[in-house]
Amino acid sequence: MTKNPIAENITRIRAQIAEAAVHAGRNPNEVRLIAVTKTHPPEIAVLALAAGVYDLGENRVQEAESKILALANHKPSTWHLIGHLQSNKAKRAAQLFDMIQSVDSLRLAETLDRFATERAHPLDILLQVNVSGEASKDGFDLADWQQRQEILNAFTHDIERITQLPNIRIRGLMTIAPIGTLTESQQYFQVTRLLRDQLQQRFPECDWSQLSMGMTDDFTAAIAEGATMIRIGRAIFGSR
Ligand SMILES: *Cc1c(COP(=O)(O)O)cnc(C)c1O
Repeated sequence: MTKNPIAENITRIRAQIAEAAVHAGRNPNEVRLIAVTKTHPPEIAVLALAAGVYDLGENRVQEAESKILALANHKPSTWHLIGHLQSNKAKRAAQLFDMIQSVDSLRLAETLDRFATERAHPLDILLQVNVSGEASKDGFDLADWQQRQEILNAFTHDIERITQLPNIRIRGLMTIAPIGTLTESQQYFQVTRLLRDQLQQRFPECDWSQLSMGMTDDFTAAIAEGATMIRIGRAIFGSR
């Protein structure tokens, strides 16, 4: 029997997740592994499903569409959009994905809400936050939110409007740490968790349970700071 290297990679990552979670005093089951299949064909995504990973992540709507349709018979599979979404792709995204993790403006949230009317259930979203100030990162601009009250105020103002939208439902926050040491990444993950805790107090009626943070190079630091979803591409499928 030939071994499925993807299954082996997933087994290894699950062990690393468990170790990081236990080290942080957390239950490993609180951490969902999202396999990021971008650039890889549907046959490769199928191998992840076969290895028991049901959450799949893509960063472009157009590339994801053929894969999602190809795997439509492979339920259960849950598709997460993790890349920047342009408003002209919002309609298709609202039809195809189970969760949009990359909502980075009030405007995009309003557009998604308009297109999510046809869904049986509200569309789950995460608000993507940029807590590092790195210009190359998308997301609501939350750099310095702890120092400057007006930054947090602008964000909560947008969230107030988003909570009024009937067809989308906030589930938490998503962030991407800049490339750096694990210790540096962990600081950004901690700031994101603290931000989430503030929002939970401010909007107790919303569900802020999900923290999507951590990728191949920094997921153990993210788990230490409370990540409930980690988005892993290279460590499962190899380099792109
Ligand atoms: C590509 C991508 C990932 C996965 O990155 P790896 O380093 O391959 O694990 C995670 N999150 C986002 C937003 C991505 O675009």
